[in-house]
Amino acid sequence: MTIRLYNTLTKTKEDFAPLDARNVRLYVCGPTVYDFAHIGNARPAIVFDVLFRLLRHQFGDAHVTYVRNVTDVDDKINARAAERGVSIRELTEETARIYNEDVAALGCIAPTVAPRATEHIAEMIAMIQILIASGHAYEADGHVLFDVSSKDDYGKLARRSLDDMIAGARVEVAPYKKGAMDFVLWKPSDAATPGWDSPWGRGRPGWHIECSAMAGKYLGESFDIHGGGIDLMFPHHENEIAQSEGAHHGHPLAKVWMHNGFLQVEGEKMSKSAGNFFTIRELLADWPGEVLRFNMLRTHYRQPIDFTFAGLRESWKMLERWYEVTEPLSDPGPGAEFLAALADDLNTPAAIAALHQASEMELAGGLGFLGFSNVQMKISAKAKVDEVAIAEAIAARNAARKAKNFAESDRIRDDLLAQGIVLKDGPQGTTWEVRK
Ligand code: AMP
Ligand code: ZN
Repeated sequence: MTIRLYNTLTKTKEDFAPLDARNVRLYVCGPTVYDFAHIGNARPAIVFDVLFRLLRHQFGDAHVTYVRNVTDVDDKINARAAERGVSIRELTEETARIYNEDVAALGCIAPTVAPRATEHIAEMIAMIQILIASGHAYEADGHVLFDVSSKDDYGKLARRSLDDMIAGARVEVAPYKKGAMDFVLWKPSDAATPGWDSPWGRGRPGWHIECSAMAGKYLGESFDIHGGGIDLMFPHHENEIAQSEGAHHGHPLAKVWMHNGFLQVEGEKMSKSAGNFFTIRELLADWPGEVLRFNMLRTHYRQPIDFTFAGLRESWKMLERWYEVTEPLSDPGPGAEFLAALADDLNTPAAIAALHQASEMELAGGLGFLGFSNVQMKISAKAKVDEVAIAEAIAARNAARKAKNFAESDRIRDDLLAQGIVLKDGPQGTTWEVRK
């Protein structure tokens, strides 16, 4: 099977041929850990999880390396920690833990490596030193800046020329910059800000260099696929390319660049002030993770997605119907048409359409491939019900039965049934499950 992927760098769909089929390498920009992740942040996690699964299927589980970093040094983090009166370490540890739990609940397999920026400062400093030595960066006023004019093809990912960028730049240019588009590799820290000793004094890295240093460490100078949301294409990914190629004799950073489209809520940009901002955590309180996942996959990853509650309800119904016919779970592997759709630039809506036509066996295989299992759904639905209230109702029913008050015991049973709780009387006593 040939996997075809749309490459933002070439603006075409290309046959995917890994640099080394025994170690297929994928890097995705991960979260900045200062607050709960929102449902938009869930999109790259889910999209690239499906890609990870597809690559593992094609090349073997042991032959794919997926790196997703954790940005745990950032001015937003510093500000939030100060606001909450907690240490930076406490804030980033807690937020990273919540992020991992959230994306696991969305059915995402853990990446092979999840490196933290603060544990790779030495690699960043070493890379910055190489960039200075090779004439791509300069020190000015306690900062180190990347000189974009040192790289002829700066702008090749975003397809913007340096002249256009400079003309369009509205930001006030810091006086120590040689060129308006030069970006920070290292900046000084005052006593109240986290900092590390460096040849340029105590300071901290810029955001872009984090990804270049961590990708280089775990995936080498050149690797196969680099992913992230479309908002990261410029300047973040453009700058990653400039830094990594600058430090690595021009060797291309990634062969294929993939970008997921943005998620909107009910047709509008998600924002706290508009009141349409949803964290993964709060949605998980009401919706099974797989419903959120399935809903995301019903739209092709490059399209914008309109997240609606009507869509979520529809997704829940579809999944439930499928779970009814795929029990008991068997995983015979996905069907050919389903796989062909996924291999065509991760066309999940076409893959889902193929499942509508598939036999029960192939349906079960396809759902399993995409990370769904009806066992999970039952657990998540079960987690939503009030277990204490059910236990009390069961005890009351048993007491009524003992007293031969069958009208009352039946009433309690029917009352639970109306809430979707099915009781089962067995030799071990009464157990319950959520009605399918
Ligand atoms: P951030 O923590 O803001 O750097 O974002 C983490 C990831 O989520 C990046 O890959 C972003 O591109 C992506 N992302 C952020 N907001 C959205 C959104 N509304 N829709 C889709 N992806 C998003
Ligand atoms: Zn990045």
